[in-house]
Amino acid sequence: MNKPAKEAALKAPASFKTIALIGGGLIGSSLARAIRQFMPESIIVMSDRDPQVVSRLKELQLAHRVELDSRSAVQGADLVILCVPVGVCADVAKGFVSFLKEGCVLSDVGSVKASVLDEISPHVPENVHFVPAHPVAGTEHSGPDAGKADLFVNRWTILTPADNTPSDNVARLEAFWQALGSTTEVMTARHHDLVLAVTSHLPHLIAYNIVGTADDLETVTQSEVIKFSAGGFRDFTRIAASDPVMWRDIFLHNKEAVLEMLARFSEDLSLLQRAIRWGDGDTLINLFTRTRAIRRSVIESGQDTDAPSFGRD
Ligand code: NAP
Repeated sequence: MNKPAKEAALKAPASFKTIALIGGGLIGSSLARAIRQFMPESIIVMSDRDPQVVSRLKELQLAHRVELDSRSAVQGADLVILCVPVGVCADVAKGFVSFLKEGCVLSDVGSVKASVLDEISPHVPENVHFVPAHPVAGTEHSGPDAGKADLFVNRWTILTPADNTPSDNVARLEAFWQALGSTTEVMTARHHDLVLAVTSHLPHLIAYNIVGTADDLETVTQSEVIKFSAGGFRDFTRIAASDPVMWRDIFLHNKEAVLEMLARFSEDLSLLQRAIRWGDGDTLINLFTRTRAIRRSVIESGQDTDAPSFGRD
């Protein structure tokens, strides 16, 4: 962690005394590790539906209490964060909402926001405040052993509250993420989904597709693809190794935005195809010069600290 981020993290108040994390995978276990490190006075309760994950979480001593039943885990918590795949967020939340403490902040970490907001909001009791969030930080690994305490340091966390959410609850959740080293931004859920469709979801779809195409080829063998992968293919394989369930849910729940970006991408790809066919080098040079400048901006913004790893979701 760099010095300013560390100082900000140490100064931030721990405004949630008891924090329940529902789902003990990569993000849930990273949150537990980060809370232990940056807010040692907070009490952490974790829950997972899988008894083996529950045992592992206990072995790793990531929480003060680990429960199989999410209803027991959320009772008395000041902050509850859903850390499960987007496709099951609403069902999991419905199972425990009536057990939430009055004044509790309910949040999530899902990579798609509009569907989560629309599906969960109608079930949230009046005295509970729902503030959806998405840490734009992650890896291609899953499960409780994959988590890291510094996963959110120097990464963005986007909060997407509904218009009528009291601003003090949004500010409390922002302070929480900032204490873990994140920089925060607030935007609408729909805008989030458009932005992430192009910066994350489309890159993952392209990676899944290109690795699948290479696997299907008859003229180039699989061993040749692996042997010569340093030519660019290797970086796509890292992204295409991301969790299948999580990514199925992302594409199915951000359908409109992904299809819109995919249509734009296909149009632009056709222009490149045409330029190559007709020997139009100027079109290629113009695009490649523009994209090189974007790469420089990404590096300057500090979002490339552990390259090569584009495609954090
Ligand atoms: P993960 O490592 O696979 O962990 C997900 C956990 O949720 C697993 O323990 C899983 O249990 C549990 N779960 C699945 N279905 C459940 C259900 N119906 N009821 C209760 N628990 C259930 O995934 P993750 O990477 O932490 O992702 C969690 C969330 O974070 C997702 O919404 C994802 O979009 C978001 N996110 C991920 C990343 C990333 O890079 N991975 C980054 C930012 C945000 P089982 O093992 O039994 O299925």
